[in-house]
Amino acid sequence: MMYQSTRDASHKKYSAAEVIKMGLAPDGGLFIPETIPALTADDISTLCNDSYPVRAAKILGKFLSDYTYEELLSDCTAAYAESSFPGGAAPLVHLHDNVYSLELWHGPTAAFKDMALQIMPRLLSRALVKTGEERNALILVATSGDTGKAALEGYKDIDRIKIMVFYPVDGVSRVQKLQMATQTGNNVNVCAIHGNFDDAQTGVKKIFGDADMAKALNERGYILSSANSINWGRLAPQIVYYVSAYCDLLAGGKIKMGDLMDVCVPTGNFGNIFAAYIAKLMGLPIRHFVCASNQNNILTDFLRTGTYDRNRDFHLTMSPSMDILISSNLERLLCLSAGEERTSAYMESLKADGVYTVDADVKAAIAQNFSGYFADEQTTAETIRTYFEKHGYLADTHTAVALSCAEQYISDIADHSVPMVVASTASPYKFAADVFTSLSDGAVLPRDPLAALDQLVEATGTEIPYPLRGLGEREVRFTQTIDYKDMPIAVLDYCK
Ligand SMILES: *Cc1c(COP(=O)(O)O)cnc(C)c1O
Repeated sequence: MMYQSTRDASHKKYSAAEVIKMGLAPDGGLFIPETIPALTADDISTLCNDSYPVRAAKILGKFLSDYTYEELLSDCTAAYAESSFPGGAAPLVHLHDNVYSLELWHGPTAAFKDMALQIMPRLLSRALVKTGEERNALILVATSGDTGKAALEGYKDIDRIKIMVFYPVDGVSRVQKLQMATQTGNNVNVCAIHGNFDDAQTGVKKIFGDADMAKALNERGYILSSANSINWGRLAPQIVYYVSAYCDLLAGGKIKMGDLMDVCVPTGNFGNIFAAYIAKLMGLPIRHFVCASNQNNILTDFLRTGTYDRNRDFHLTMSPSMDILISSNLERLLCLSAGEERTSAYMESLKADGVYTVDADVKAAIAQNFSGYFADEQTTAETIRTYFEKHGYLADTHTAVALSCAEQYISDIADHSVPMVVASTASPYKFAADVFTSLSDGAVLPRDPLAALDQLVEATGTEIPYPLRGLGEREVRFTQTIDYKDMPIAVLDYCK
């Protein structure tokens, strides 16, 4: 199985290990598999009897052909161990009627990024060996909160890799700051910067583009790598849980082999929903994809009109992981629907003018599979409250956006016999303050962000997930705050 860039019509090929090490293609495009491997009904039947790690190893094996099954099984077993995902990696919970929640947040940071970031570092560590790389890898991350913590947990104590995370000192929540400052592991470093998230992001990008830095790091035996969500090594593991959800519907007697399911995904960078689409291309019987957005509804507009226009206001919402105006992974869908040449042209137009319009055939092809819906802040808060009151289900702010969009879609279609699987991407406790406030429609406010966790327990009788328990009592290991201009010095210092 080889890979190629979404922008390269000459189809230059790369191995999976190269793709995972490189992250982004040299022409700025994203890597996609040259063909999509098949998932037959027989495959699905067998997978249904397997544990989650085995399901993951078998499906990843179809894409990462330069990794042995033993390597993948060993990595998946370690990544999705009971100790990291108590209660299972991706349980499917029935909510009401034909609606299910696929809970992807039982991992070590209580958000769905763990599903990919627990396994991807292990794949990268092996990729260094497979590509004959003699240097070690240094992962640099700029974070506004969630990704940094998930990356730290994923990369901690992984062989031949160090990770350094920068966050804006006043730009993350108190809970997020505590989560990062108390990070364990011998190969991790966390640094607050004076500045905002853009300063952190720009600082990291500059280091990546700086030839002198590359040289200095090379002398110290390091190459730079990123934990970015456009890396195929983060996307491939996300295919697994959609297959797993189908198996669970089969095992529960909710469907028969070959029956369809619908999927609704709270979307930011379009990675998670694209992984579901790959599952369909492999042969998983998925009828339709609902792309759920918050007030930053650029994807809703794109799917409805065919025009992607980032020249618009940016809204800070209570579902911050979906506050995005450039959904990078959409480029992969464009490539599959429009080919490399047109994809390059769309991306150039996006870069130059912030806008592109796809051709009518592309729009029609995408519309056969995808519909866009969105929920504004008020609707999201109402959805949290009504789901708890009516169905006893406590959803986080991102999941609530998707639940609302799934409802809108269901009321727009005639055939309600197909199960709807809604991807649930974070524990409600990760966004405890907003969830707590939504439950009373703003009538009762949390005392403070940390107290909101306990208040949510009192109000709902649910439990705080293990990664968020006792945060205030953990040992703080990282207290450094630097000027963002000093980021390169801090990096070199760390790699001494
Ligand atoms: C990252 C994230 C999303 C968005 O997923 P994409 O793959 O970027 O579309 C949704 N919800 C939560 C909680 C996230 O952390």
